Amino acid sequence: MNMILIGPPGAGKGTLAAHVAAAWDIAHISTGEMLRAAVKRGGTAAEQAGRLMRKGLLLPDALILRIVQERLSQHDCAEGFILDGMPRTVAQAQALEAMGVSIDKAILLMVADDVVIRRMTARRICAGCGAGYNLDSMPPKKEGLCDICHEPIIARADDSPETIANRLKLYHHEAEPVIDFYRHRKMLLPIIADSTPQETAAAWHAALAAEHAADRMPH
Ligand code: AMP
Repeated sequence: MNMILIGPPGAGKGTLAAHVAAAWDIAHISTGEMLRAAVKRGGTAAEQAGRLMRKGLLLPDALILRIVQERLSQHDCAEGFILDGMPRTVAQAQALEAMGVSIDKAILLMVADDVVIRRMTARRICAGCGAGYNLDSMPPKKEGLCDICHEPIIARADDSPETIANRLKLYHHEAEPVIDFYRHRKMLLPIIADSTPQETAAAWHAALAAEHAADRMPH
């Protein structure tokens, strides 16, 4: 099962994709995570990428396609994958298609803007190991410290209120054509993602099971 995951920043894409990927035993590929790791490693190109990311701006398609193509060629993607955070533009969606990457479903997480803003303001990551937390829904056991490595947890540089507003505006502007791209190809599977990660993951599993059953019905 090859899936693309579309949803606004703060929809819980990372948490949900990790959950569903583990249940289906497929790879979870997050372009945002790969890029943050590259920025942490440093270098001139990484510095430039980091600047764009802090402003909430998209990185060049060519760079994204290069890292995704390289990642998809690794053997853990052979049984399937969830591509989280890519494609963000129609050009990226077209390029994936041109590369011969077959996609079974484009999962669309639907969340209201006010819910997204509330969630992102409460979002934290560990400065040491990068583990994700949310002060409202997934706080660490010890205030301010990572459960795993006990380093301080901090807000992501691109989760400032100003950047959140920018990223939401950009999401609506960029995502609509990508959503239409997959809707026209009858691959779109919308899922309501306003509630807890557990409930949304259950809705995702149920939607896939329903699609699977429908595919097996005689036509
Ligand atoms: P995310 O963790 O998916 O919210 O991504 C964090 C940041 O990485 C985004 O705000 C962009 O700057 C960059 N990024 C991630 N995926 C892409 C993509 N497919 N195309 C362009 N930029 C991306």
